[in-house]
Amino acid sequence: MQLVDYYQRRFQYLRLSITELCNFQCQYCLPYGYQSKKGHNFLSLSEIDHVVATFTELGVSKIRLTGGEPTLRRDFVDILSLISSYSSVKELAITTNGSRLLKNIHHWHQAGLNAINISIDSFSPHLFKLITGQDKLKELMQCVEKSLEVGIKKVKINTVLMKSMNDNLDDYLSWIKDKPVELRFIELMETGESSDIFNRYHLSGHVIEAQLIAQGWQLQLKNPLSGPAKVYAHSDYQGKIGLIMPYSKDFCKSCNRLRVSSIGKLHYCLFGEAAVDLRDLLQNSAQKQQLITRIFASLKIKPEKHLLHVHNVGMTGNLSYIGG
Ligand code: SAM
Ligand code: SF4
Repeated sequence: MQLVDYYQRRFQYLRLSITELCNFQCQYCLPYGYQSKKGHNFLSLSEIDHVVATFTELGVSKIRLTGGEPTLRRDFVDILSLISSYSSVKELAITTNGSRLLKNIHHWHQAGLNAINISIDSFSPHLFKLITGQDKLKELMQCVEKSLEVGIKKVKINTVLMKSMNDNLDDYLSWIKDKPVELRFIELMETGESSDIFNRYHLSGHVIEAQLIAQGWQLQLKNPLSGPAKVYAHSDYQGKIGLIMPYSKDFCKSCNRLRVSSIGKLHYCLFGEAAVDLRDLLQNSAQKQQLITRIFASLKIKPEKHLLHVHNVGMTGNLSYIGG
């Protein structure tokens, strides 16, 4: 049984949010910090187990833990160990703001983590603090080194592109010259709570792409199962530059991911109008067949593309809810 939708897109990649809680205040996500929501309790270890058991049976081989800040969960190492015990999970990744990384990366790696995206929105300490509310750039730079040192296979940096804030390509190029990491510019996306920020700071990734091409960077061939990022390389640089441009034409054609939120809702699109609640079927393994039926039924309504270009942002207030 494989997860393939009406448009022949195949889904082997699950992004699983395990908390909405976060200790940063990124301007485009949680500018006032995380505000606790009454009655929300996040997926338990056992519910996560049922999610993973079911999606791996349906062909998922890559799982990314996200949030909120996933590493704030007290049982984070247990979650990693649980997921890595599934031999069909070939890639176990996280997206993190790095705040818990330095002390813990060794344990995470031992528990099976083999890929990491660290969010660093600027290499200027002043701008970094302005964007994230935290004075932690120096620590995050150490996080990158440490992740490579302990042997994490894939280390990537996520940078949300903001016009006239952090869009000077040269700052990033000099940094990746000798570092075997991929730095990914993510175009700022509009969400229900961030229209003002979006209108002020959105910059198309094509602006960066044109500069890369002018400087001799080459577009890398895509593996048919890789997602929507465009990746550029240059023989003078150890690092690569990735571009995630959700506003570009055909972006959704290569969609290869499904998302389960921290409260157990299946989101077939980051900007969808609805989500399908799976939680009542995550209570014991005898419910697996029913769960599979529900997942397939919801795949049928996965839209061909999002409607961000007409400012239809769907139900998502900010990305801490389903993890970006
Ligand atoms: N807290 C972790 C972190 O920041 O890395 C994981 C969760 S965060 C929601 C996942 C990714 O989404 C981060 O790289 C973040 O920069 C990005 N993100 C959040 N809001 C965004 C927005 N409105 N547009 C584009 N990217 C966004
Ligand atoms: Fe927290 Fe990540 Fe959102 Fe920043 S982007 S506020 S680190 S969840």
